[in-house]
Amino acid sequence: MVDASIKICCLIGDPVEHSLSPLIHNAGYEALGINFIYVSFRVKDIKRAIDGIRGLGIRGASVTMPHKVSAVEYIDDIDEVAREIGAINTIVNNNDVLTGFNTDGGAALKTLGEVTTLRGKRVVLIGSGGAALAIAVGLRRSGAELVVLNRTVEKARRLAKLVDAGDFGNLEKLPVVFTADILINATPVGMWPRADESLIPKELLHSGLTVFDIVYNPKETRLLVEAKEKGCAVIYGYKMLLYQAAMQFELFTGYQAPLPVMEHTLTEALGEERYDTSFDRR
Ligand code: NAP
Repeated sequence: MVDASIKICCLIGDPVEHSLSPLIHNAGYEALGINFIYVSFRVKDIKRAIDGIRGLGIRGASVTMPHKVSAVEYIDDIDEVAREIGAINTIVNNNDVLTGFNTDGGAALKTLGEVTTLRGKRVVLIGSGGAALAIAVGLRRSGAELVVLNRTVEKARRLAKLVDAGDFGNLEKLPVVFTADILINATPVGMWPRADESLIPKELLHSGLTVFDIVYNPKETRLLVEAKEKGCAVIYGYKMLLYQAAMQFELFTGYQAPLPVMEHTLTEALGEERYDTSFDRR
C-alpha cells in the first residue's frame, strides 16, 4: 500500500527505461508484504541525484552506467570491496549517511560457488571492464589462479596488476582456455541482438571446463550452447544479475530476499520479447 510510511528505493543511471531492477525488487517487496517501492530515475547529473537521495530521504539506490565510478565522490562512506573496485552499484541511506557498496563481485562468486570450488583452480577471465574488475577483485582471495585476457591488452595488464593475477594477454592468448578449469566471459559479446557471436572458438572448450557467461540476454548465449555441446558445466549470467539484486534488497530492507519469487520474475521478463536488453539494463 502506498501511504506516507512507504520507503522508497530507486535506480539511477542513463538509460534506465528498460531496466529489469524495478521488476525484481518490487516483486520481492510484494512477496514479503513490506511497505517499500522501487522506481527508476534517468539521471544526467549524479551529484544532484545524490543530493536528492538525501533531500527526499530515499532509503537506497542501485547505481548503474554511467555513474558507477563518479558516484563515489558524492557519498559519505564506502565499503572495503567497493573501494578496492573503485566503483559502486549500491547506495544505502542510514539517517542521511550514504554508504556505497558493490554487489557485482560477491554475486559472481556466489553464482560460481553454486557450481564449482575455486581454490587451486585456473580461471580465465575475458574482459577488463567494470564487470570484469568486480569479478577479479572478488576472485582475488578465493585461492584461484587468474589469467586476464582482453581485446585491449593494456587494460588486461592493469587489471592483472591490481588483483595480482598470474598472467594476462590479448585475445591471441585464448588457447590458454585448453588448460583452464573455469572460463568467464565478462564482455558483451553474445548479447542480443548479436546473439550469434562468441569470442571463444568452440574447439577450445573441453569437458573439464566450467563456463560462466555473464551476458544474461539471451539466457542461452552461443557460448553456453556450444559449451553444453562440448560437455562443459555452464553458469547463466542471469543468476549473477539476480544475486546482485538480492544483495541490494537485503541492504535496503534488512529482510532476506525472497529468491524464488525474484528469480521467477526475472526469468519471465527475460523470456518476453518486449524486453529489449540490448544494453546494460540493470
Ligand atoms: P564495460 O566496462 O564496457 O567493459 C566491456 C569489456 O568487454 C571490455 O573489456 C571490452 O574490451 C570488452 N569488449 C567489448 N566489446 C568487445 C568485442 N567486440 N570483442 C572483444 N572484447 C570486447 O562493460 P561491463 O560493465 O564490464 O559489462 C560487460 C557485460 O557484462 C555487458 O554485457 C553487461 O550487460 C554484462 N554484465 C552482466 C552482469 C550480470 O549481473 N550478469 C553484471 C555486469 C555486467 P576493451 O577493453 O578492448 O574495450
